[in-house]
Amino acid sequence: MIKVCKFGGTSMADKKSIEQVVKVIRSDEDRRFVVVSAPGKRFSGDDKITDLLYQSFNERFDDRQPSFDKIKERYISIVKELALDIDIEKYLYEAEQGIESSRTSDYAASRGEYLCALIFANILGWQFIDAADIIKFNSKGQFDSETTNDLVSARLKDANNAVIGGFYGSMPDGAIKTFSRGGSDITGSIIARGAKADIYENWTDVNGFMTADPRIIKNPIPIDVLSYDELRELSYMGASVLHPDSIFPLRYSNIPINVRNTFEPENKGTTIVNDVGAMGARLVTGIAGKAGYVSIFIKKSMMNNELGFARKVLSVLENNGVSLEHVPTGIDTMSVIIDGNELKGDKEHKLVEEIMASTGPDRVEVSKNLALIAIVGQGMAEKIGTAAKVFNALCKHEVNIRMIDQGSSEMNIIIGVAESDLKKSIVALYEEFFN
Ligand code: ASP
Repeated sequence: MIKVCKFGGTSMADKKSIEQVVKVIRSDEDRRFVVVSAPGKRFSGDDKITDLLYQSFNERFDDRQPSFDKIKERYISIVKELALDIDIEKYLYEAEQGIESSRTSDYAASRGEYLCALIFANILGWQFIDAADIIKFNSKGQFDSETTNDLVSARLKDANNAVIGGFYGSMPDGAIKTFSRGGSDITGSIIARGAKADIYENWTDVNGFMTADPRIIKNPIPIDVLSYDELRELSYMGASVLHPDSIFPLRYSNIPINVRNTFEPENKGTTIVNDVGAMGARLVTGIAGKAGYVSIFIKKSMMNNELGFARKVLSVLENNGVSLEHVPTGIDTMSVIIDGNELKGDKEHKLVEEIMASTGPDRVEVSKNLALIAIVGQGMAEKIGTAAKVFNALCKHEVNIRMIDQGSSEMNIIIGVAESDLKKSIVALYEEFFN
């Protein structure tokens, strides 16, 4: 049996957590391939190594480089406290030189995982594999899954054990490229696929996925089993346990992901599978919500008769490189819901101007501070009354629903509410479906 394990930043944070990780790995000899994140926060208010690396990149031409000094201190103390025989100062020096000469912040950011993997390979006495050698992006910076899979398979075929740094790979010219933040989860999936693992264990600092955000609902019911599709919906909408893209490498190879807690290894966590079987009959699997959306509402009389109206609006977004989340429509109205992060600088103004110019509407209105909540459950497609329950619950708690959208898979209902109603809505929905 082959298990691929990925350990997150809190599991790598200090001597104590690293020792705990080693215990987890050594307790099961099937745990043969390990992917590590960069050391995360040791306590609230502490720095994450990755954040410090991005800052070091910005400080690279300054006389003083306080962020890199902090990085050095962290790694040196880890090596000292664990009494490891590794010349960490040499590797830190190389990283510092590399950051000064590199043109992108990706190289800088990747050093957190790179150094951590070197240290871990040393602790375990296992082979270190530089992710740059096996994880490949094309010249546009897009992940090249098939080349990567061939390289990973070839490299792991005869390896008994290995430690690999998460989060990064390389482009055809050798330049380092990272995934988006939290991307070590994706590396773990890629390695699990390439190793033809029986299971991908993703070790973090919580007991898997919960039916709602524990910062809002005290001790929410845990989710034992989740389908890939449900996971995608929940993590996209803010359940931040696993990177939303981590399922792609695994989907067609049918490898389950088991999300576990390094600090409570006896807890079985959440298992994510392609087909949840009988569990799929649950009405609602989980609820997740996210603030920070913007809606652009467009009204034009006789819109429904105008051929190509939606195309014109969507072209404006496309030409401005803005991706959209939802498009609720009425007879003479249409809204586009956009993640607020897409509208930096004067983008919002530009979009409105261009939509006006290309569609000649009666009215365009921008509303900010919108939150979206997804009520997710594979079983909902076959049951009557889920939407009614959602509306009842929100009505009872006097929440004004500003948008409604049911995914075409009928696996989710998405509602838009004012950001100030986000918590209240999640409480109302949790009470309705889980209490
Ligand atoms: N260290 C990276 C980050 O903080 C990647 C990861 O931890 O998954 O985003």
